Amino acid sequence: MGALIAGNWKMNGLTADLAELDAIADSLAAEPAAAEALVCPPATLLAAAAKRLKGRAGVGGQTCHPNEKGAHTGELSADMLKDAGAAYVIVGHSERRADCGEGDADVKARAEAALRAGLRPIVAIGETLEEREAGRVVERLLEQLAGSLPDAAAIDVAYEPVWAIGTGRTPSLADIGEAHAAIRTALAERFGSAAADIRVLYGGSVKPGNAAEILAVDGVGGALVGGASLKAADFLAIVRAA
Ligand code: PEP
Repeated sequence: MGALIAGNWKMNGLTADLAELDAIADSLAAEPAAAEALVCPPATLLAAAAKRLKGRAGVGGQTCHPNEKGAHTGELSADMLKDAGAAYVIVGHSERRADCGEGDADVKARAEAALRAGLRPIVAIGETLEEREAGRVVERLLEQLAGSLPDAAAIDVAYEPVWAIGTGRTPSLADIGEAHAAIRTALAERFGSAAADIRVLYGGSVKPGNAAEILAVDGVGGALVGGASLKAADFLAIVRAA
């Protein structure tokens, strides 16, 4: 599988911002990239984003509810995201874990709902600064993998150190390599040969200036990009760095 570069717009983006997607679609049409590009806009823009990207890049949701439908005011099911044009959905992003109290079992239920709807979940995991300073990075990642992953391998994983998200700070390349190696070993133990198709993305302050060196680290199968995904030029530079 080629690398996946996924842009997470978070709670950013109005109709006017869809112009960034025209620039992405035009650039990828003129010069296709080796990596697969994915944009995860707010759900209000999903269908319009899918249209504007014209299949040159995919679209994904930022979370989904564990249930298919029902009395859950304000929530979105995986089927709804799929219906709006999504092929992927991020589950377990650290902002959801922190802001909405989503624990590992909840994240797993959301990933399973995504799979049932035919979406490929990108399951996000990552240690806090406190856990890193206590020397518990690998232990914490293995714990989150064990609790958050669904039982099927049609997934991708995003390793996002919580302290690196939106801060401009990144782990050393050696630390990124160590985390990805531990994750890949755990995936192989759990899914056997099927683990080869699971991409492990790195996320946390990926920018045009550091993307190439991060994407070259052994075991890194792409990137989950927040802030730098909001501008087409920056996002395209990262897509082309893969
Ligand atoms: C993210 O939103 O998952 C993220 C990694 O954000 P940023 O690239 O801004 O650190």
